[in-house]
Amino acid sequence: MFNEYFEKTKGKPLSTASDRDIYESLLSFTASHMQERGYNAGKKKLYYISAEFLIGKLLSSNLINLGLYGAVAEELKSVGKSLADIESIEPEPSLGNGGLGRLAACFMDSAATLGLPADGVGLCYHCGLFAQKFKDNKQTEQPDYWIEDKNWLNRTDTQYAVKFKDFTLQSRLYDLTVTGYGNKSNRLRLFDAETVSESIIKDGIAFDKKDVDSNLTLFLYPDDSDDNGKKLRVYQQYFMVSCAAQLILDEAVERGSNLHDLADFAVVQINDTHPAMVIPELVRLLTERGIDFTEAAGIVRNVCAYTNHTILAEALEKWPVKYLEEAVPEIMQITRRLDLMVKGADETCAIVQGDLVHMAHLAIHFSFSVNGVAALHTEILKNVELKKFYDLYPDKFNNKTNGITFRRWLIGANPDLTELIRSLTGDGFLTDADRLKDLAMYENDTDVLSALDTIKTKNKLRLKEFLMKKEGVVLREDSIFDIQAKRLHEYKRQQLNALYIIKKYLDIKDGKYPDRHLTFIFAAKAAPSYVMAKDIIHLILCLSKLVAADPVASKYMTVVMIENYNVSVAEKLIPACDISEQISLASKEASGTGNMKFMLNGAVTLGTLDGANVEIADFVGKDNIYIFGKSAKEVIDLYKSGRYNPRALYSKNADIRRAVDFISDTAMLKIGDGTSLRRLQSDLINKDYFMALLDFEDYSKTKDKAFADYEDRAAWARKTLVNISKARYFSSDRTVSEYNREIWKL
Ligand SMILES: *Cc1c(COP(=O)(O)O)cnc(C)c1O
Repeated sequence: MFNEYFEKTKGKPLSTASDRDIYESLLSFTASHMQERGYNAGKKKLYYISAEFLIGKLLSSNLINLGLYGAVAEELKSVGKSLADIESIEPEPSLGNGGLGRLAACFMDSAATLGLPADGVGLCYHCGLFAQKFKDNKQTEQPDYWIEDKNWLNRTDTQYAVKFKDFTLQSRLYDLTVTGYGNKSNRLRLFDAETVSESIIKDGIAFDKKDVDSNLTLFLYPDDSDDNGKKLRVYQQYFMVSCAAQLILDEAVERGSNLHDLADFAVVQINDTHPAMVIPELVRLLTERGIDFTEAAGIVRNVCAYTNHTILAEALEKWPVKYLEEAVPEIMQITRRLDLMVKGADETCAIVQGDLVHMAHLAIHFSFSVNGVAALHTEILKNVELKKFYDLYPDKFNNKTNGITFRRWLIGANPDLTELIRSLTGDGFLTDADRLKDLAMYENDTDVLSALDTIKTKNKLRLKEFLMKKEGVVLREDSIFDIQAKRLHEYKRQQLNALYIIKKYLDIKDGKYPDRHLTFIFAAKAAPSYVMAKDIIHLILCLSKLVAADPVASKYMTVVMIENYNVSVAEKLIPACDISEQISLASKEASGTGNMKFMLNGAVTLGTLDGANVEIADFVGKDNIYIFGKSAKEVIDLYKSGRYNPRALYSKNADIRRAVDFISDTAMLKIGDGTSLRRLQSDLINKDYFMALLDFEDYSKTKDKAFADYEDRAAWARKTLVNISKARYFSSDRTVSEYNREIWKL
């Protein structure tokens, strides 16, 4: 079919075409098939507003969901082309940062697949998050231009005026079609500002933060370490929600709403606090259209639902009143009126406190639902972090454990495993993840277990080839692949993993060799102004160089840090993983979704009882996961008492001291930057806010045990089978069904 389409539109045969030609033609071909599908419709529609949509490349995913992937791949193969090579030309949309944005993307896929009328609403960033480049073993940032002339965006005629205090900006809506697996489509509605210009970008990702007309939609999460950066975030957020609110009301009216009954026509999911200003903006627009303030506030409360993604204070946004007054004075005034409506005895629940506006408080008071993203996280919200709000509104709080779409993370990323499961259990699992239950009966089938092992090796070879091209490193497929891939943050504790690697290195130098070659793989971006995170990247890159240059150590271990972690990299990494590192300090990772992707692809988790790891551990049982470290309760108590003392651990424990001391060893200083290495070392000894040293001993022991267990290959394959089978609960189809049943009611 594509063959014919290509010849007709290009006037030449497929066999003589360049990959770029084929890619561009395939894009149009696929888009036209998507158009034919039509859109999910209904009286009530969900608007999922999010600062991020980390959607990944779209070609394969769209072909899979249209049911055309196999046929197109065959056609290309018959003329000597590979679909994988052709997709490698596609730039990955740079519209997200990490788990929160990836979750939004998985939800879009599941909602379309389940036939729910549900659109995502966000911004069309020209450069999105930065592209990461390593230079002198350090992270540098470059703009990530991802929008090519031929792309998946559909420019629409929809435009809105967004009024700020001193000026008005005109928006333009771009739509991305999200096709359900074997179902109709929904849309991702991405707004851009007409005046934005890439020409103001200077060195790296620097630009004039005060030139809002020109910079507004250039970058996701522009550096907000200074006042102008913070103010720019406010401008961005208001632009996003004002466009969203205007779109929601226009569409609701079109579907027959008189706005008093808006809750019958629209539900808004506020993804983290970034879109929280949609609440006062909807109130403003409703009053502008003739509804009185109190009723408008009530309507909005019945329309909005809020998802909390973190208990880290830094991420619970609080904006200075001053900035809101300077950027959007009317919104500040409405926020104060809303605050008055909820003023009770407890001042700590107020929306406006002193000179700060608490965005999470705004979202909680004026939503009908507040959800956490894993069972443990929701309990911590109810009983600790948001206890006062839970006491006020016990019925609002609910849990929705995160999930991932199996279309991208199994069918797309791991075709061989997909085929094996299909041959064992039939096709049902592709739309009904519960069918993975049927895998369990093969737990003692040696043929199935050895097939799993073969597939893992094949995926390792695929990763090896990818990294050879991308980074020039050579992996060994007979090695254990231990992978930590996620945003770089102290709470995720890449530094703990690095300390273990130092210990292994020093053991090898002492003549204590591991049973088998070990491959430690990292992939992570750090926020550009997050010094400690960048220091940790520097440490890992230095260790990688140190080991590679050591003739003895390199025989037993390899350390790799992959540049520019994104969805495309994740799709290559995850299917090749043996051990999935999920080692956040207990209580700090709200859920995680990386943990679910690794598990689905047959990796065994090494982790703390944090986020969704708790549920993973319950499902797979203690023989199929490696759990270590202090519990969430112990950690919360330790913070409360203020008694954590890393220096005491450093003094007392020789293993810890040896590893921490090595960070500034002369061997390291020869490779790296002494200021950065010493700063990290000193932080670990004197502060260690996320308690890496606390869990070091247990982590080392547990990790050693996992490596030893790997040598019983049949037993290990059984663990991977149990993990794959139990991953069924973590399908985002399940999560989205729960949201719909209990919150959205579409
Ligand atoms: C899944 C995913 C994440 C989230 O990983 P966590 O381990 O849950 O933090 C981040 N980035 C990318 C590219 C992902 O695919």
